[in-house]
Amino acid sequence: MDKQNDQSRMDKIVSLAKRRGFIFQSSEIYGGLNGFWDYGPLGVSLKRNVKDAWWRDMVAGHDELATLAGAPSPYEMTGLDCTIIMHPQVWKCSGHFDLFHDWMIDCRESKRRYRYDHLHGRWASHRGKKVFVTTDQSGDEAVPDTVAKAQKFFGLRAKQVDEIEWGGGLESLQAVVAAGVASLADALGPDAGAPGSLTEPREFNLMFETRIGALAGDDDDRAFLRPETAQGIFVNFKNVLDTSRVSVPFGIAQVGKSFRNEITPRNFTFRSREFEQMEIEFFCKPADSAQWYRYWRDRRWKWYLDLGLTEGKLQLREHAQDELSHYSVGTADIEYAFPFLNPGEFGELEGIAHRGDFDLRSHMEGKLVRKDGELVVETGPDGKPRHRGSGKDLSYFDDVSRERYVPHVIEPSAGADRGTLAFLCDAYHEDEVPDADGKPRSRTVMKFHPRLAPVKAAILPLVKKDGMPEVAIDLYRALKPHMACQYDEKGAVGRRYARQDEAGTPWCLTIDGQTLTDKTVTLRDRDSLVQSRVPIAEVVDLLRDKLA
Ligand code: ATP
Repeated sequence: MDKQNDQSRMDKIVSLAKRRGFIFQSSEIYGGLNGFWDYGPLGVSLKRNVKDAWWRDMVAGHDELATLAGAPSPYEMTGLDCTIIMHPQVWKCSGHFDLFHDWMIDCRESKRRYRYDHLHGRWASHRGKKVFVTTDQSGDEAVPDTVAKAQKFFGLRAKQVDEIEWGGGLESLQAVVAAGVASLADALGPDAGAPGSLTEPREFNLMFETRIGALAGDDDDRAFLRPETAQGIFVNFKNVLDTSRVSVPFGIAQVGKSFRNEITPRNFTFRSREFEQMEIEFFCKPADSAQWYRYWRDRRWKWYLDLGLTEGKLQLREHAQDELSHYSVGTADIEYAFPFLNPGEFGELEGIAHRGDFDLRSHMEGKLVRKDGELVVETGPDGKPRHRGSGKDLSYFDDVSRERYVPHVIEPSAGADRGTLAFLCDAYHEDEVPDADGKPRSRTVMKFHPRLAPVKAAILPLVKKDGMPEVAIDLYRALKPHMACQYDEKGAVGRRYARQDEAGTPWCLTIDGQTLTDKTVTLRDRDSLVQSRVPIAEVVDLLRDKLA
């Protein structure tokens, strides 16, 4: 599929998401707010089902007596729900206060703001005039964009474009400025008419800041909305150990909102400023940690496949050594080929990181840095810790081996919104179905895994008379306590099927004339379109079995 088609596919998904009530722009009646999204009636169920499937598969349904395939031993799982605003020292020790930033660059002319690492450019010259043309487009769109900008800058007609001389291919603006190959004064901003309008890059911390208390004013009142849920788990490590009788190895899971003041939110919900994460911090013995890392990486990969994401669109990418955080032994990303990306590009759904003992030690000792290969407390000019830790002992005493150690951590960190977006994109299909007269009719169908589908079954009386609605309502009431279902008697049955296909409902149950004589209903399967007759009395058990 070429780029053009994929972008139009994405446009159709975004439009269906709005039309059918999956996802709306936040505060839309006031013009919307960039980077914030609301989930509508179908979307809230879809996202809840994603989070519930995660919680059930990873936590609530976990069998702590069995040794699961690939795991070095049995292990326990438990959960937490922490606050969004935490003690500011948490973020100082975790490193977010000093390090969680991007570089941004402003354009004085267009008043637009860009992420410095998103700008690329190349030299263009024409009749002695030379300029470094930049673009914030990526992939296949970047080069044509620079051509269009250069044409405008030099005041050329379309047929004169070939007169432009190009000094090589696209390069990162950051890299060419650092290498002294171009300066910001030479650069023509992506939305500017003349060079020299880009400001010096500035660091921009991605944490949203707020103040605590009515008389907030001095610096001590500064607080932050959490940019990840993980830190709440680390600072409660001892509470959980002391109160729940868990023993290493065990995991603590949390699902909740996180906030990042992204400089350029984009690609629908993919890069939002408010989003939900589903995170596990798994605590294990240092010697076993590499095996646990591999276990979690493979387990999480399989989870996406089991819930129906197309294997060919998923990628498991191990980070290269130079990409790893300074404390990490290994990190892998699970990525999906979203339709808004160029062919061959993937976007991160989840990161699985081996974090060593970095986090627990940071909250004991203070912010850590790597020095000569060792993690040591960072000190200020006065020789004192730059950010002081809690001083609490977060080590673990292993009753079996009679040793004391700081557990190592494996962190599978998934985005609930990115996951939901991937399931939404993957489910979108267009095909043809025969209409009531047997003629092919094109349909849009969302092929969600039944566990994720917002509505599991629709109950449709063929006509609104002859006692059919009464039978249908009885069936609806029998099914509703077991699964999300809808009763719909409005319009021609073909249109009702089409509505359910767009919502991704796996099964439609139709009550017709035959139902009244033999107490069977038609069960229509969304994907195969096979229609079979099932005794009404067996419907609840049959669908419950299919969902199990
Ligand atoms: P990216 O590089 O795409 O910004 P990240 O590596 O910073 O992501 P992590 O800090 O590893 O992301 O966060 C874990 C997960 O949280 C990501 O895999 C993603 O699913 C989700 N996530 C992170 N940032 C956002 C965001 N701005 N919008 C939606 N989901 C996000």
